[in-house]
Amino acid sequence: MHEISLVRNIFATLESEFSKDDLGTMTAIDMKIGLLANVEPILMQNAFEAVTTAEEKYQTVRLNIELIPIEIFCPDCETQSTIENYKFACSSCGKPNNNVVKGTELLIHRVHFDQEEEVATK
Ligand SMILES: [Zn+2]
Repeated sequence: MHEISLVRNIFATLESEFSKDDLGTMTAIDMKIGLLANVEPILMQNAFEAVTTAEEKYQTVRLNIELIPIEIFCPDCETQSTIENYKFACSSCGKPNNNVVKGTELLIHRVHFDQEEEVATK
């Protein structure tokens, strides 16, 4: 299950970016996951729970997942379309298109700390 290693990587990234004191007050992590990121949100939540349960210091941290829809860009009519049901076609001219511009994201969007202080990462 690669979600477990993803969760471990997230904590490793945060541990290199924030001090121990800061991480001790961490309450939640917001993630953006694209529909093409090859990550199942439910498995991600389960993995997150497994890791935080094992690591006492992170037991109170929650994971919020924002799903990012797939968007493609059509160079012919310069239109950006949102893909539904994995039908990769331009919504304007109907041409098949897999020029994905959105939906592959897998990133930490924001980290919440107890003292109302929010630190955005890139
Ligand atoms: Zn088009």
